Amino acid sequence: MNFYVLTLFPDMVSDCLSYSVTGRAIRSGAITVTCVNIRDFAQNKHRSVDDYPYGGGAGMILRPWPAYRAYEYARKLANASAPVIYLTPQGATFRQEKAKELAAEKDIILLCGHYEGIDERLIEEIVDAELSIGDYVLTGGETAAIVVIDAVSRLVPGVLSENSTLDETFENRLVEYPQYTRPPEFLGRHVPETLLSGHHANVEKWRREQAILRTKAKRPDLIKDDDNV
Ligand code: SAM
Repeated sequence: MNFYVLTLFPDMVSDCLSYSVTGRAIRSGAITVTCVNIRDFAQNKHRSVDDYPYGGGAGMILRPWPAYRAYEYARKLANASAPVIYLTPQGATFRQEKAKELAAEKDIILLCGHYEGIDERLIEEIVDAELSIGDYVLTGGETAAIVVIDAVSRLVPGVLSENSTLDETFENRLVEYPQYTRPPEFLGRHVPETLLSGHHANVEKWRREQAILRTKAKRPDLIKDDDNV
């Protein structure tokens, strides 16, 4: 799967994604991340990409032309049907279901805003969907793009070992059961007996019960009335 990121801070995105699971996915070729620096497409003497807002007000606005040319460049690299997603606090909240949906795409173009935002005409012209990573305002879309790429990448076949996402939080509208590793006793706290029993069916039953208990305690909003829990 290929991600194209339109950004003013390409190193921020590529450095962050070079670690751990995403880093391995990039090195194995399971995903590619191509950062397109919007500033490279500024044509004025100082390569400035922002300007004052019409109508006045605080802050600066990303001008449409440099970002549009960066988009045109990415569009030539990506397949013609690749969706363009603008990361913005005004967008729909990014959730696991959306991550699954996006993992089925071959290419995605992500647009990162900065300053007080982007000229609205550019958004109207190129953007297919808007995503927010939560109800707070970030300085730029880069951190949000990193979040989206990370969450989507781990659902791309071959990135994680098979089955490792099956019981994860949000699968079957539950949070994951508690996990333990060695040693069997830590500061007087013991690993639950069932997990040491080697009895596979009992372990499965215990985990399911724990997942339900935890979901009711921590995220009751995930459980729907028709869920049989
Ligand atoms: N003035 C804008 C507003 O009130 O909607 C916020 C601009 S914000 C300071 C700069 C950029 O950060 C945005 O253009 C967007 O790309 C990104 N951003 C900020 N918060 C975000 C969030 N919660 N999710 C995704 N992107 C976000």
